[in-house]
Amino acid sequence: MIIKGFEKLSLSDYPGKVSCVIFTPGCNLACPFCHNRDLVKNSLKLKPISENNVFEYLNKRKGLVDGVVITGGEPTIQKELGSFIKRIKSLGYKVKLDSNGTRPDILKILLFPSLRARARSNLSIQRHPERESMPQPSLTWRRIPDLTELPYIDFLAMDVKTELTDYAYKKFGLKTGVSPIIKSLNLAAKSTLPVELRTTIIPKLHDEKVIQKMAKQLSKIFFGPSPSLRSVSTGRSNLSDDVILGIRQLPETPESDPGQVLRSRATQDSRGARMTRDETPPWPFRVRPGRHNDKVKWYLQTFRPGTCLDEKFNGVKPYSKEEMQKLVDAAKPIFPSVFLR
Ligand code: SF4
Repeated sequence: MIIKGFEKLSLSDYPGKVSCVIFTPGCNLACPFCHNRDLVKNSLKLKPISENNVFEYLNKRKGLVDGVVITGGEPTIQKELGSFIKRIKSLGYKVKLDSNGTRPDILKILLFPSLRARARSNLSIQRHPERESMPQPSLTWRRIPDLTELPYIDFLAMDVKTELTDYAYKKFGLKTGVSPIIKSLNLAAKSTLPVELRTTIIPKLHDEKVIQKMAKQLSKIFFGPSPSLRSVSTGRSNLSDDVILGIRQLPETPESDPGQVLRSRATQDSRGARMTRDETPPWPFRVRPGRHNDKVKWYLQTFRPGTCLDEKFNGVKPYSKEEMQKLVDAAKPIFPSVFLR
């Protein structure tokens, strides 16, 4: 594992834990506003830190430090990441991983290690007497996830740079399109781990419209479409985000008349289906209750100019605290667990 930075004590990088922070060099994105220029572009100039030094420290600090944060650059491009994390965990530390979400293949292994490790035979092949004389199909193997096996990591922090479209992400140097990011977000939503999403707000690139669009997309991934649309009107959700997010909260209906409840929901749904882009929130947004609602937090963080990858961004003035708060307020009705950092 290549390590180019080691912060021995941090009270802010791992929520609720005293942690140390390990910085890995290099990144597969080239965000123009990235302030980790040295770590991303000039890492050869930085002095490497040996794994032994890190583990010597971790051995000494058992019981005093709770967790280890692995950040970058982009840690998932490091070959030895899995074994490195396992070694840290064998000492009893919690591990938080910061990632840009471009390597869903790696995140999948870290979040659901058993997906890779287990395979069982599919024994459901029927042996019909008439088929005995015929060549039998060979046993097929399929992977069966054992979700009882613990994931390698304990906390995932992931960047969501901008709205989830190929065009928007290309501006951030991601040539493969946005699909790996969406895959990673879906994995994070399915996992049982707490998840922190982070967006650095750049005045030229993020405004209320963009933030609301992001909020809708993230809501759909983490909270799912409205259950009433699926269960009452169509039986499945094939409506667009805007329609799903455009439904108003149902009016109070006496419980004594269940037919009325269904009728009013159906009317509500048909209203929803006619809604247009301009009619989206600030109406109350109905979040599907479930385990994900309190497990994901989305932070909008203020941009810090000075050492940006692209010099042009060093002259960009960050939004004020009030302007940042307006963005949070715009997203809140759609994605309730959004905060300012
Ligand atoms: S800001 Fe972008 S370029 Fe910088 S480390 Fe994060 S993902 Fe990589």
